[in-house]
Amino acid sequence: GYRARSAYKLRQIDEEVDLFDRGDTVVDLGAAPGGWLQVAAEEVTEAGTVVGVDLQRIDELEHPHVETVRGDMTDERTRYYLRKALGVDPDPDESEGTPDRPVDVVVSDMAPNMTGEYQLDHARSIHLCRQAFDTALELLKPGGDFVVKVFDGPDLADFRDDVEAQFQYVRAYTPEASRKRSSERYLLARGRTDAPVSAGD
Ligand code: SAM
Repeated sequence: GYRARSAYKLRQIDEEVDLFDRGDTVVDLGAAPGGWLQVAAEEVTEAGTVVGVDLQRIDELEHPHVETVRGDMTDERTRYYLRKALGVDPDPDESEGTPDRPVDVVVSDMAPNMTGEYQLDHARSIHLCRQAFDTALELLKPGGDFVVKVFDGPDLADFRDDVEAQFQYVRAYTPEASRKRSSERYLLARGRTDAPVSAGD
């Protein structure tokens, strides 16, 4: 069985858009207790790699290529340890040439602690989505995919526009398992477009 019922949401997303392939490298943000990690690990098989990040500790998984990083994704140090876990140069500013982008799929199920105050919960959700989006742009291969949970509200349209500018197409999706939480959506962004190379690079 899965560690969290949320695993079924990712199962549905994968069935809907065939997100994962055998051998993929996947980053899972907001991964505790590890339900999505279990689904991703099953799908990529032992040929793939999955790295999960969360504020909370995550009990070890049996898959040989699942690693976890404990930390806050809004903290630069956590991003540093994520790059290290992926075998990417952890200090990209000091490196020469094109940064390494080894990741096929970035998923984020990060959610703020809900206060019940609609505007505040929405704003904090969008803030986490933007952290996940920055991470996706930093690590995804051209053609890579990005899935992010968002609580619906007035800033979603702007966020979606920004994601659309970097991917071939984006759609909003509400898995069956999310229906009872009426404001919860997932943006499914497929096919990260090749980052334009500016003159002088
Ligand atoms: N997908 C997970 C699973 O299937 O087990 C469930 C994720 S749960 C809905 C949301 C998670 O986001 C929580 O574990 C929370 O600690 C994490 N989270 C929230 N803010 C975060 C942040 N700034 N950095 C890292 N994780 C964060």
